[in-house]
Amino acid sequence: MIKTDVLILGGGLAGLSTAHHLNRLGKLSVLVAEKGAFVGGTAGTERHGDFLFDHTGHLLHLHDSYGKKFILDLLKGNWALHARSSWIYSQNAFTRYPFQANTYGLPWPAVEDCAAGFLRTVHKPVALGDKPSFKDWSLATFGAGISKHFMFPYNEKLWRSPLSALTTEWQGRFVPKPGASEVLYGALMDQKKFFGYNADFRYPVRGGIQVLPDALAARLKPGQVRTGCSVRYVDLASKTAVIENLGEVQFERLVNTMPLVDFLDLCWPLPQAVTVARMRLRYNTVYNLNLGVARARMSDKHWVYFPEKKYPFYRVGYSSNFSPRLGPKGTSSLYIEVSRRADDKVDLEKLENQVLAGLRSAGVLKSTDKLLAKVWMPIRCGYVVYDFDRTPAVTAIFKHLAKIGVESIGRYGAWKYSFMEETILDGKRCAERLLGVDSVEKEAASTSAALKALK
Ligand SMILES: Cc1cc2nc3c(=O)[nH]c(=O)nc-3n(C[C@H](O)[C@H](O)[C@H](O)COP(=O)(O)OP(=O)(O)OC[C@H]3O[C@@H](n4cnc5c(N)ncnc54)[C@H](O)[C@@H]3O)c2cc1C
Repeated sequence: MIKTDVLILGGGLAGLSTAHHLNRLGKLSVLVAEKGAFVGGTAGTERHGDFLFDHTGHLLHLHDSYGKKFILDLLKGNWALHARSSWIYSQNAFTRYPFQANTYGLPWPAVEDCAAGFLRTVHKPVALGDKPSFKDWSLATFGAGISKHFMFPYNEKLWRSPLSALTTEWQGRFVPKPGASEVLYGALMDQKKFFGYNADFRYPVRGGIQVLPDALAARLKPGQVRTGCSVRYVDLASKTAVIENLGEVQFERLVNTMPLVDFLDLCWPLPQAVTVARMRLRYNTVYNLNLGVARARMSDKHWVYFPEKKYPFYRVGYSSNFSPRLGPKGTSSLYIEVSRRADDKVDLEKLENQVLAGLRSAGVLKSTDKLLAKVWMPIRCGYVVYDFDRTPAVTAIFKHLAKIGVESIGRYGAWKYSFMEETILDGKRCAERLLGVDSVEKEAASTSAALKALK
């Protein structure tokens, strides 16, 4: 039987980062079990013919000084900085993202609706309770016009849930809130000011986003990451996991980065409060269609949001504009995102016909366009749904996991809405908790200084 101090389930960015940061102090043995043939998980890239496709757009938004340095060191100069060009297509017009600050270009009645509705919220603010629904928050924050023309239809498409059943916990960093003068300015003229958490982004020049998890995995010790190793069962009482191709693995500490729902389904024993809470967790699947098209520079944009119901997709991104090396010269590549509830039955052939028809009617594809690649890469657990059940359920589950010393981290392990830099930092913080130190980097530096002094 294999024995390890720390067993990490999943070799995405969270799992790899935890292993790397544990290694910085070299005190504990570590094993990462990844079910896929490659590391990277959702931040991976697949080759199909001459095209490289990520799991939709995976762009680097770097906000933390440690995270930024760490990620850029990993990429070793293989990145380019892009000023975001993201748009909304609605009522046959393109407007700049975010919608709430840029209604200029829409038909005038819609602009009027949006600006007047917003001003009403300023003059007659509506008091919101402690835990407003997304619907009430949107009406109180942006007004009826912006809600009707963008916030409601777009978020209904993405979340596939009544907006009155969703909380606002997920949107703090992700939904920009402009001031009154910005909303008015953006209604009357083309406002080029950047808003939001991702005004610019970095992206690898070569290799797709896969180069990031690959570089992180390359920092680990040989044999520490085992691919093709799906976790089948976790006995929390005897601290043993049954893993495909590894057999039984005994661990002292366990770090989960698989989707929390899948992890709990493999664990035994669990108290009833946890199994009940698990049944209250909901998520959406992102059906991601990737196209390689025999036409250069199909668009000058990075990605476009589609709020209208007549289009089955909520977003289309032009990955060849992140890096032209993702496909052959003279071509473009794009990803199209459709969201469905996890338990919806989806007929992919039918959906594909609807998506292609939608792309043609929106002018994204021309009838003469030749498709060189057409690949579905669904993300089964794409978005955790922040309904009113989510936080109480997650709190009950984490209370128990903390009691038995199990960590569950990353976007899906922690059951949250987050991004790659944050995921890498989650791994660092998890390693620090396991090692009982404030900062692995400071500890590693002081250990190496002490060793130098001894020489
Ligand atoms: C549609 C979409 C767009 C996104 N866009 C961006 C973006 O532009 N910028 C950004 O910064 N972030 C983006 N993200 C977020 C980013 O993908 C995540 O923050 C990050 O990749 C999460 O890493 P993770 O390690 O927590 O999870 P994952 O990458 O899901 O890793 C979990 C790993 O566990 C493995 N696993 C699952 N079950 C088992 C099992 N039984 N046994 C063993 N292993 C198992 C999986 O194969 C996977 O490798 C996006 C996410 C989505 C869904």
